[in-house]
Amino acid sequence: MSHPSRVGIGYDIHRLVGDRKLVLGGIEIPFDKGLLGHSDSDVLSHAICDALLGAAALGDIGAHFPDTDDRFEGISSLDMLAQIVAKIAERGYSVLNVDSIVVAEQPKLAPHIPSMRGRLAEVLGIDLSRVSVKAKTNEGLDSVGRTEAIAAHAIAMLSEQAIVE
Ligand code: MG
Repeated sequence: MSHPSRVGIGYDIHRLVGDRKLVLGGIEIPFDKGLLGHSDSDVLSHAICDALLGAAALGDIGAHFPDTDDRFEGISSLDMLAQIVAKIAERGYSVLNVDSIVVAEQPKLAPHIPSMRGRLAEVLGIDLSRVSVKAKTNEGLDSVGRTEAIAAHAIAMLSEQAIVE
């Protein structure tokens, strides 16, 4: 038996600067630069937050965690994701799957993808087989290609009814 499902899309980009930790998918990745922003600037988690909010038609991450609010200064993006998962669950939605792409010229992300998927699946409350993270370079083009920024795209599918696994 199938239930109505809803799809959402998310996108984010953050500037790479010195003296910041690089956090992607909740995992700290060794690199000489990190992403600039109000929170830990985990661009992948932000894109996933927006995909989930989009699927539930609940606005965007900026509406839920305004960067003018000091309570969210330095907040872990996984905490933001957990709060959004709780908000959509309150409305009766459950996450079916998430797919995503991180676009980064450097560092090489392939070795970190299993850890990112694991952390995200844990926070999303779904099986690892339902969480996909892919990494691409930007072929040296534009700001991402010049290692000035990292971008992420995500898509999420929600069920309008709780699923029991
Ligand atoms: Mg962001």
